[in-house]
Amino acid sequence: MRKIIIAGNWKMYKTSLEAIELVTLLKREVVDNAAVDIVVCPPFTALADVRDTLSESNVGLGAQNLYWEDSGAFTGEVSAPMLKDLGVAYVIIGHSERRQFFGETDETVNKKIRAALHHGLLPIVCIGESLAQREQNRTMDVIRTQCEGSLKGLTEDEMRKLIIAYEPVWAIGTGKTATPQQAQEVHKFIRELLGEMFGSDCAAGVRIQYGGSVKPENTKDLMSQPDIDGALVGGASLKSDSFSLIIKNSSDIKK
Ligand code: PEP
Repeated sequence: MRKIIIAGNWKMYKTSLEAIELVTLLKREVVDNAAVDIVVCPPFTALADVRDTLSESNVGLGAQNLYWEDSGAFTGEVSAPMLKDLGVAYVIIGHSERRQFFGETDETVNKKIRAALHHGLLPIVCIGESLAQREQNRTMDVIRTQCEGSLKGLTEDEMRKLIIAYEPVWAIGTGKTATPQQAQEVHKFIRELLGEMFGSDCAAGVRIQYGGSVKPENTKDLMSQPDIDGALVGGASLKSDSFSLIIKNSSDIKK
């Protein structure tokens, strides 16, 4: 059984005060929900305040990035031990915006995954094709390259701790969602690929989220697909009512 996991990627939005307001509302709205793993990923600057506001709640804390070294002369970077010390449990790695604007590659994603796992953080690893790649029928090749590069050298035990987020780049922040069938096709391919790489038993247990303009209205159709085990939500996670509705609409779906 795979438990659905809904994570909110707040990107570079919300001051600490705004973040406290948002999670104060959110934790009330989802208080009785034990069916879904719920995670919010605020900017670094709001992590401590969000942690304090969420203490004793069923909402987990995630970061949006990390650096692979533990410490050193790396101005502006934040390491896994620093996140761990703050009480962070999850970390998004290799989001397409980081790949596109900050030069992240499958190789750096791989280093970040290893650092996160080494320090007991649960990585949410993002993969996905651009519009041009989809139009050239290269989606599955791109996914294969990203998985093989990003997950290189991981053990089966390590892979079991990872969450994969399939996020077609053309659907992120654009209002265009992959159809449930389009998403399922790629999710199924990812699970088969993980089966080749880590064995089918391991692959059957890995949670694969969908991300790309997930909203309350399209949640049920997406989450009902057999290989979609949750969502990574950007825009709709910035308001407690839409994010909690996405969580609610996922709650009675069993995998
Ligand atoms: C994201 O940031 O990972 C994302 C999927 O954004 P949105 O939901 O806004 O498309």
